[in-house]
Amino acid sequence: MLPSACAKIIVIGAGVGGLSAAIRLARQGHAVLVLEARAQAGGLASGFTAGGFIFDAGPYILLDKPGLEWAFDHLGIALDALPLTPIEAVYHVLHEDGTTTAFDRSLEATAAAFEAQYPGSGAQYQAFVARTGAIHRNVQPLTFHSHPGVWDVLRNGSLGSVPFMLSSLGGVLEKSELPAQVRAGIGIWTHIAGQPMAQAPAPMAFVPSLFHGVGAFLPRGGMRAVPELLLATALAVGVELRFNTKVAGIRAPHGTATGVVTVAGEELPARAVLSDASGIGTYVELVKDFPEAQKEKLRQLPLQSPGTCVYLAVRGRRPPYYVRFKLRGQGCTAFVQPGLLAPELAQDGWFPARLISPLAHPEAARLGPEGQQKLLDEQLAEPWWQEGIDEYQVLHRRTTFEWGRDYHLYRDSMNPVMTAQLMRKGRLAHRSPTIKNLYLTGSSTHPGQWVSFCAIAGILAADSLTHDLPAHA
Ligand SMILES: Cc1cc2nc3c(=O)[nH]c(=O)nc-3n(C[C@H](O)[C@H](O)[C@H](O)COP(=O)(O)OP(=O)(O)OC[C@H]3O[C@@H](n4cnc5c(N)ncnc54)[C@H](O)[C@@H]3O)c2cc1C
Repeated sequence: MLPSACAKIIVIGAGVGGLSAAIRLARQGHAVLVLEARAQAGGLASGFTAGGFIFDAGPYILLDKPGLEWAFDHLGIALDALPLTPIEAVYHVLHEDGTTTAFDRSLEATAAAFEAQYPGSGAQYQAFVARTGAIHRNVQPLTFHSHPGVWDVLRNGSLGSVPFMLSSLGGVLEKSELPAQVRAGIGIWTHIAGQPMAQAPAPMAFVPSLFHGVGAFLPRGGMRAVPELLLATALAVGVELRFNTKVAGIRAPHGTATGVVTVAGEELPARAVLSDASGIGTYVELVKDFPEAQKEKLRQLPLQSPGTCVYLAVRGRRPPYYVRFKLRGQGCTAFVQPGLLAPELAQDGWFPARLISPLAHPEAARLGPEGQQKLLDEQLAEPWWQEGIDEYQVLHRRTTFEWGRDYHLYRDSMNPVMTAQLMRKGRLAHRSPTIKNLYLTGSSTHPGQWVSFCAIAGILAADSLTHDLPAHA
């Protein structure tokens, strides 16, 4: 199969990363064909209907409005096309000893509550947010570079932030001298990744400065409104999409990508291939003649599991916190109540809600399908999330195995875990270092996995491709 001069760019996967790459490429003048294994676009960020309610399948909070703004700007999408509801009462943490910490949009209110619980900690928290916020502002432009190097760091005036960036979240929080409960509350986002704080990268400490600063949001219409907007834009700029079309392999004779073969056996030539399927899966499963030694290295990377999710209808709500976490050792469970921000979701007094439990990938595999179902039963029976809820119905349950099957995930994982070590080495490159004309996007290729980062990754991958293969060359 030889790529003809008029062949299209093939994008594998219509997740946030693939859709963003496709729009960017189309705007740069390429003919683009997106092949999506599922019947709908959006991947993990798509909508999901159960019991008459529409849920976000995975994501529930937008913590990086500036990143999404940057991406929309580069995709030619006006940000006001995505109306955002600001979240005032962001999250609440129930610790194992029964104490609680709560995080509001207002820095002053949050610090005052800490001060009342742990005298002296209010000012410490404010200083922590100021310090991490300054570092975030300093390094943020680097997240818009594909694999920033030493020169990018110097040019951006970020040399002073390097020691922070090279440390772990655990190290940063220890230095803060904040009380243990406040530290655990700040570090909750790493529990969501099923990761110990000592292994988590320091940028996880930026989260409080983000929601106290620009704010945290739920898009009107849910997080699924992000891929819905991307899909509409892709169609408007002439991207061709084929659903129910799973790619079985990427043809790369002599180390150059020339097209793909679908599960149905169709051979499709391509000028270049850009994959939004799992980065590891792309090399290990799709590129048949990828060197075995390199495959083995990729197979060794620790994987991040999507965890489990129960989609619920609940009668009643428990204000004010949009997300309630219960910490348990290295892990946690989150109870998410979109009805607090969008009362119009009510149907006869019932609201949609979700119980989301991260699981470390090896633990998920160890538990197996039955073990995970048993865990879900135990979590559903816990009283902490039912406070203020009169009644509930389980509409759907998803273990890591269903996530893997329904969303075409590599070994039931979302991406390689973003450890502090991987952060230092860099994630999978947008331009394949081994296969010419192969590009990667999505959460495997960016230091973060939020939808904003996946959109940024799509743009960076598309720009690498257009740099190598200009549309009209
Ligand atoms: C439970 C959960 C909670 C989350 N919470 C948040 C949150 O609160 N905020 C936030 O910002 N992010 C959150 N995320 C992360 C975010 O949803 C994902 O990182 C992001 O949506 C991933 O986008 P992607 O494009 O990289 O990949 P995906 O969404 O996985 O898209 C890849 C697409 O490629 C398709 N595909 C795969 N293989 C093939 C193939 N061989 N052929 C054709 N098509 C293929 C898949 O079907 C899929 O549509 C959460 C995720 C989960 C699971």
